[in-house]
Amino acid sequence: MGPVPFYDPEGSRFGIATFPYGLAPQGLATRRQLRRQQLRPAGQQPVAQLMWRSRRTSSAKGVPRGIQVAYLYEIAKARPYRPPSPKQLAALAAALRARRICPTCGVEQPYCLPRRYGQCQACHGWDLPSPEHTPTPSTESMLPAAVQPSTDRRP
Ligand SMILES: [Zn+2]
Repeated sequence: MGPVPFYDPEGSRFGIATFPYGLAPQGLATRRQLRRQQLRPAGQQPVAQLMWRSRRTSSAKGVPRGIQVAYLYEIAKARPYRPPSPKQLAALAAALRARRICPTCGVEQPYCLPRRYGQCQACHGWDLPSPEHTPTPSTESMLPAAVQPSTDRRP
C-alpha cells in the first residue's frame, strides 16, 4: 500500500497543504462551497487545496493531466456574498448608456465616448464613418454626364 495520493498536509510535495477530495479539514471550503453558503473568500489567500483525479484536466498551471485542483479558504474569514440588486444593475446599465451618448450631437454611439474628448469620434473630427455625420455619397452624381449609358439601338 502506497501513501494516500494527494495527501500532503505540510505542502512539502505540492507547495501548499493538499488534501484528497472529501478529506479537507474542518473550517475550510472551496470557492464553490462558500458560494453555496452565500459566502465569498473576500480577498483572503487560499490556505490549502483539494486535489482529485478527474477525466477533465485542470486549467491551472503546472497541474498534471487528469488531475483537478480547487483552492481551500478559511470559512471564518469569508464574508457574505451579495449579488447585485436589480436597482444596482439598472444603475450600472444607465451609467454605461450615459457614457455612450455624445453631448454635442446627442447620438447614442455603439462605444463609450473617449473621456479625453468628451464627445463622439465624429464630433471630435476624426475621419471615421458615421451615418449621422457623413452624407451618403450618391453614385449618380459622381458620374460625368458623358459616361451616361447610351440608349441608342442598332437597327
Ligand atoms: Zn457627436
